[in-house]
Amino acid sequence: MIISVASGKGGTGKTTVATSMALSVKKITPLTFLDCDVEEPNAHIFLNPVISETERVKTVIPEVDEKKCTHCGKCSELCAFNALAVLDTITLVFGELCHACGSCWYFCPENAITQKEKEIGIIEMGRVRDINFIHGKLNIGEAMSPPLIKAVKDKISPQETVIIDAPPGTSCPVISSVKDTDFCVLVTEPTAFGLNDLMLSVGMLREMNIPCGVIINRAGIGDDRVINYCKAEHIPVLMEIPLHKKIASLYARGIPVVDGMPEYIEQFQSVYHTIERVIRS
Ligand code: SF4
Ligand code: SF4
Repeated sequence: MIISVASGKGGTGKTTVATSMALSVKKITPLTFLDCDVEEPNAHIFLNPVISETERVKTVIPEVDEKKCTHCGKCSELCAFNALAVLDTITLVFGELCHACGSCWYFCPENAITQKEKEIGIIEMGRVRDINFIHGKLNIGEAMSPPLIKAVKDKISPQETVIIDAPPGTSCPVISSVKDTDFCVLVTEPTAFGLNDLMLSVGMLREMNIPCGVIINRAGIGDDRVINYCKAEHIPVLMEIPLHKKIASLYARGIPVVDGMPEYIEQFQSVYHTIERVIRS
């Protein structure tokens, strides 16, 4: 079973939920934790894994042989990502925009394009408290996180329950992270911004046919609109975490909620069992 934890916007407590859920669920089932928020991975701050293995992740970008190139313009016409610009005397490659789709080197009539390897980041793997821990770290200045996210997800072992900490938002990195997961936990807060971003996330997951439930963090600070929306859309509210000075203090010190407040372990386990039931129904 693969559970992703996502949020329509940053700062909702997504990593707090993902790490505490992992520490609670590992008491029930063997668990792998993936931090796919590769631009800003921070689950390791809370979980403190011992890293035992590191892998470099590469992608490919085109390299143009100017001796063969006739500047016909076909490659830039084909590129959906504006990663190529053909001028009169030179063909420019903007590697940071390239999605490695292969169209340009496949269809160049002069065979002027070859593939050049480019390192985009690393994967670190380790263990913490019986949890397999894996995260990706995107190189600074690198724009293309989906290939690194895919490389992190390729480490998933089918025998284990997996919790994925996804990046915030609803763009390509989030889609890459939640793709092929069995259930997505959306973490939000009961504010107008929280509701707006929740609605965007729900729309994205429905397009992808992924069932979801909501955890409301900092419950009590806003109004009932998130609850009413979930009711109207038949989305289960899995848990409400009140605004609590102790939780904020634990977060500030990099301590998982369930370590400082073990009374939450049962609640996170109950969320896991609810998700199991939803997936099996
Ligand atoms: S398609 Fe090939 S020959 Fe044409 S501009 Fe691109 S690299 Fe040059
Ligand atoms: S591989 Fe695809 S995305 Fe990259 S430059 Fe070529 S056509 Fe564009």
